[in-house]
Amino acid sequence: MIKMMICIECPKSCALAVEIDNGKVIRVQGSKCPKGAAYAALEVQDPARILTATIVSEGLSLKLIPVRTNKPIPKKDLLRAMEEIKKINIKAPVKAGDIIIKNLLGLGVKVVATRAVQ
Ligand code: SF4
Repeated sequence: MIKMMICIECPKSCALAVEIDNGKVIRVQGSKCPKGAAYAALEVQDPARILTATIVSEGLSLKLIPVRTNKPIPKKDLLRAMEEIKKINIKAPVKAGDIIIKNLLGLGVKVVATRAVQ
């Protein structure tokens, strides 16, 4: 089976033709550097993404505080992660980089604020 995907490792956005057999990458065509093959292998075997979201605040200057995970999390866990983040309500001022959740879903991933809100 050939799966088409776009490498998102850099702005060149190479179109990759990824040959897959039994859930494993056999060959990658179309990449302009070795990162394309590594990206394709991860995308096929263990896809993950940095999650960006907002958290509701109470009594602060912004009603929604932008946050992101400090590492990619498995794509299969993204919806559960969003549900967990939605449960949070921030009442005290935060600085950019403040840890809002220490261990999201037990994945060893932090959720951090990406801007200061007073
Ligand atoms: S394969 Fe290499 S050059 Fe192409 S988008 Fe990925 S990182 Fe960039």
